[in-house]
Amino acid sequence: MNQYFVDMHIHIGRTFTGKPVKITAAKSLTLTNILQTAKFPKGLDIVGVIDCHSPEVMAEMEQLLQESRLIEMAEGGFQFENEVTLIPGTEMEVLDESCNGPIHLLAYFPGFKQLREFSNWLSTRVTNLQLSTQRVYETAVNIQEKVKSLDGLFIPAHVFTPFKSLYGKGVKQSLKEVLNPTLIDGVELGLSSNTMMADQISELNGFTFLSNSDAHSLPKMAREYQKMTLEAPTFEAVKKALHGSGGNKIDENYGLNPFLGKYYRTVCAKCFTMKQGDICAHCGSKKFTKGVSERIAELADHDSKPPVRPPYIHQVPLDFLPGLGTKTREKLYSYFGSEMNILHQVSEAELKSVLKEGLADLIVKARSGDMVLVEGGGGRYGKVAK
Ligand SMILES: [Zn+2]
Ligand SMILES: [Zn+2]
Ligand SMILES: [Zn+2]
Repeated sequence: MNQYFVDMHIHIGRTFTGKPVKITAAKSLTLTNILQTAKFPKGLDIVGVIDCHSPEVMAEMEQLLQESRLIEMAEGGFQFENEVTLIPGTEMEVLDESCNGPIHLLAYFPGFKQLREFSNWLSTRVTNLQLSTQRVYETAVNIQEKVKSLDGLFIPAHVFTPFKSLYGKGVKQSLKEVLNPTLIDGVELGLSSNTMMADQISELNGFTFLSNSDAHSLPKMAREYQKMTLEAPTFEAVKKALHGSGGNKIDENYGLNPFLGKYYRTVCAKCFTMKQGDICAHCGSKKFTKGVSERIAELADHDSKPPVRPPYIHQVPLDFLPGLGTKTREKLYSYFGSEMNILHQVSEAELKSVLKEGLADLIVKARSGDMVLVEGGGGRYGKVAK
């Protein structure tokens, strides 16, 4: 058994020929760049890359396989240059008859065969197979069954965000309105919530929580992640960890303090002023974007008996720290290697030997999330108070 750093939600911006996949994501976010960045500077061991259903992304995978830079493993997943494990996945948007609004769903596949078969299946149900997070004209339960028939993992994405998520828009009260709970492998919390918040909802007591970055650019990879104990860095072991089997498990979830997420507080949809009454005190608008904190308070019930869960550790990503620019980050990487090393291994004294005292203190505080924060909402991130 070994410990691994795992981020299961990273988007692809462009294919290797430059075609857009996730249009809003960075151009540098290609499959190969993600795998290289996972290795250095991030220091991630396992990455779930979303958008691998896209035909040109599969072509890039095939090319990497031919060059033996990528090797398909018997226990599922792909090894990249002997260091990083790729778990191919996809994100889908669904609005079937049982949904009140659109929801986002994640699926992951053990091997190339299953990925290709799922992509073929999707091709008759979406408008443009090339692109990310397409609306799938299929019921959510049928998607779950298809994913499971291919030995895949099924995980509802960022479940509380206000516009496109299971609890944010999809259901009134219960995930059972839309999904088959027996075909769910884990629940992704999203940046504006954490374990303590989600544990107020009793129907989530039986599911493992995931904290992933949902990165749309290379620097945002690993802004949330988990540390897992696994028998091997494979698809099969990750699957076992989600179901707590054979000693495979999540040891810790690392994530933003929910205050830093984009949707923590309910704010005015026009001017982002925090909601206090039914009319915005600042601009008079009556339209508000409901925050994750308010939505969870609506869903909370008194029957919740959460299991003993991995600690959820609030960590502030290095690129959120005021005064820690690209130059300083690169200096840190050249001294200490990966971001995971800087966040988990390097001592305070070592940091102080390289950085000004104030900056070293800031990083030490960022590692434990011990900082004064300004809450985010309505699509704007929270901030570290200066
Ligand atoms: Zn999404
Ligand atoms: Zn996403
Ligand atoms: Zn307003």
